[in-house]
Amino acid sequence: MNSAASAVPVRLTDLPVPAPHAGDVDAVLIPAEQLQERITSLAAQISADYAGRDTVIVALLSGTVMFLADLLRRLEFPLRLDFMGVSSYGGGTESGQLVYTKELKLGIRGRHVLVVDDILDTGKTLRSVTAKLAELGPASLKTCVLLDKPERRTGRFDADYVGFRIPNLFVVGYGLDYDERYRNLPFVGVLKPHVYTEPA
Ligand code: 5GP
Ligand code: MG
Repeated sequence: MNSAASAVPVRLTDLPVPAPHAGDVDAVLIPAEQLQERITSLAAQISADYAGRDTVIVALLSGTVMFLADLLRRLEFPLRLDFMGVSSYGGGTESGQLVYTKELKLGIRGRHVLVVDDILDTGKTLRSVTAKLAELGPASLKTCVLLDKPERRTGRFDADYVGFRIPNLFVVGYGLDYDERYRNLPFVGVLKPHVYTEPA
């Protein structure tokens, strides 16, 4: 089975927004407990597929910080961790030009590589990153994302492992930012409109 087919579809909830964040957050999309539950099963699936394989995990900065920490501690095969910095400049909620802000440190030729990102949107980032890594000659190359917004795709790209399939909304929290803020929210949610219209 294509692992992405097991992605859990989610919709906005009417759960109360936790008090410290209620001023800026409009609604909860994925509560903290549901994130943990899904990441546990995703990690079990990845661990079964990669059993015994020495693997390089390539995490993209900075949105993966929470997902990566929770996923990584549940992976049960030998691995090394490296980071790549990729930003789509432009700011706001629309992606612009891709810029690499940090390159890989580890060699990946002949290695199994699993790329981890926070969210698959237009697909531009992961298309570029996987093309770049493929040139380095890995033994295998797969991708894992916490969130997938398939409606936004501008070209063909599917991740091999997907946590949740979400509607076409700009989401923040659990590592994801708006203007570098909101990464600390323990859940995934959507912001109130005033956040986008008021000067920082
Ligand atoms: P793509 O290149 O697939 O269009 O977008 C991937 C990158 O755009 C993600 O790694 C993430 O940084 C950013 N992005 C896309 N959609 C969202 C979203 O809904 N919320 C946030 N915070 N970032 C997003
Ligand atoms: Mg990102």
